[in-house]
Amino acid sequence: MCRQLTPWEEAVQFHGHACPGLAMGVRASQIALEKLGVERAEDEELIAIAETDGCGVDGVQVITACTLGKGNLFLKDYGKQVYTIASRKTGQGVRVYFKPFDFSAAEKDLRKKVFAGEATPEEQKEFKKMQEKLIDHILNSTAEEICDVQVKKVELPGKARIFQSVRCEKCGEYFMEPRARFQDGKIVCLECFEDYNRQI
Ligand SMILES: [Zn+2]
Ligand SMILES: [Zn+2]
Repeated sequence: MCRQLTPWEEAVQFHGHACPGLAMGVRASQIALEKLGVERAEDEELIAIAETDGCGVDGVQVITACTLGKGNLFLKDYGKQVYTIASRKTGQGVRVYFKPFDFSAAEKDLRKKVFAGEATPEEQKEFKKMQEKLIDHILNSTAEEICDVQVKKVELPGKARIFQSVRCEKCGEYFMEPRARFQDGKIVCLECFEDYNRQI
């Protein structure tokens, strides 16, 4: 039996595990694409800006196909659960902010214990169930219930450019020209340059 994976299953497969962070990235992307009325980005027609460097970024990559490799995913590490997806054609973007979740006092205690590494196996099981419930909530709530969604013009970062390659005169490897540094009058790559700085 061959069944196509759901977008969520695809994201879990890519990310390696199921977690609420991943669910937020997936849901934010789905909400934004729907509001923009577009499909995922084959090329660079969409851009994504993630204001966190957490698990959610992988959800964004799978659902929107804005990826680090293509150069149309930008990380601003503000530590916020905010994802913005925008169309390059129109400059129109959708910014999705996740409102804080309503944890009970008991749930807060449990989270604290787990993150401090002090949870018993029984409590860890309970925490896992709580995470599953939270994932379910994120994936199945309406946008209004869990997010603040803003449609707005987005300042678009420049397209990924192709640069000339130059050769590092120290290690001999080729790299892109804008990353070049000078060291003792020679062109060197950042890797060699950093080693040089460390010696000072
Ligand atoms: Zn994760
Ligand atoms: Zn080098």
